Amino acid sequence: MASSVYDVVIIGSGPAGLTAAIYTCRANLKSLCIAGITPGGQLMITTDVENYPGFPQGVKGPELMDLMRKQAERFGTVFVDDDASAVDLTADPKKVWIGDDEYQGRALILATGAKAKYLGLPNETRLMNHGVSACATCDGFFFKNKPVVVVGGGDTAMEESSYLANLCSSVTLIHRRDAFRASRIMQDRVLQNPKITVLWDTEVIDVLGKDKVEGVRLKNVKTGQVTDYPAAGMFLAIGHKPSTEIIQGKLPLNETGYLLLEHREHGSFTSIPGVFAAGDVHDWTYRQAVTAAGWGCIAALDAERWLQGQGH
Ligand code: NAP
Repeated sequence: MASSVYDVVIIGSGPAGLTAAIYTCRANLKSLCIAGITPGGQLMITTDVENYPGFPQGVKGPELMDLMRKQAERFGTVFVDDDASAVDLTADPKKVWIGDDEYQGRALILATGAKAKYLGLPNETRLMNHGVSACATCDGFFFKNKPVVVVGGGDTAMEESSYLANLCSSVTLIHRRDAFRASRIMQDRVLQNPKITVLWDTEVIDVLGKDKVEGVRLKNVKTGQVTDYPAAGMFLAIGHKPSTEIIQGKLPLNETGYLLLEHREHGSFTSIPGVFAAGDVHDWTYRQAVTAAGWGCIAALDAERWLQGQGH
């Protein structure tokens, strides 16, 4: 059943989607945010955010998202906490479905973000939520005083390792190369933490355990040596995949699935008029909460001006 027509429909409720909602509502545009079945985006699984301006003592990711959502609600954003299942981007107005329910918007902002990646090991899937996790904030508590491993070499791996080191008996950080790609300050924190051991040049080739994780099978990529390493939990921090499934075949994507903007150097326009993109769904370079929020603002302003140009 079709609902009334919104000026703007925003898909996604991370910093990009919520900032877009704050801006469109304050421009007096009737706005719907399709927030997803797990609203709030990646910051919901982030512990301490120390680089979002305005929080000199830092802020917890979920708290930051709660504040942004309340701000969007204050200006009248309508929220639906479910996943969009299909879109018609060329219809006028644009159409978005959640199952059989149809929503319409004169303009559409795609802010679907990106999701954590997994290694793709058979036992990793089997032991998901039984010791395998991609979220230290969500699951770290279950491993209090137990040994865990973290996989990855970026900022997320550093952040997760430091967080887990406060809870767990030990943290082993496993990285496939001999150098981290994480920022210097976050690397230093990890390397100086006596509770964190780093295994370089090492890949996880299997997760061990019947009903719960008991260890990981490791392979040294230089020597080929395979060893079993005891651990009660394995935390993945190996990057993210853009959530672009619903626009596949409808908008151009790059080889890793990120949405390609019409003019990457200018604005949030996609190749379809009236469809805009904000945040990690198209931004594989910066991928920060603050840049996502910035993109939300850009998309809202672009949508507002585009609607004005259409006589709305
Ligand atoms: P990332 O920077 O892409 O790093 C992913 C890491 O996982 C890399 O070290 C990569 O190894 C490794 N990896 C990828 N696939 C793997 C596989 N199949 N097996 C083993 N290792 C694998 O991702 P991220 O750490 O999630 O960070 C994403 C972005 O968010 C970055 O721009 C980062 O700066 C930002 N971020 C910032 C903060 C903060 O400032 N508070 C916190 C978190 C994230 P290689 O190095 O060998 O490629």
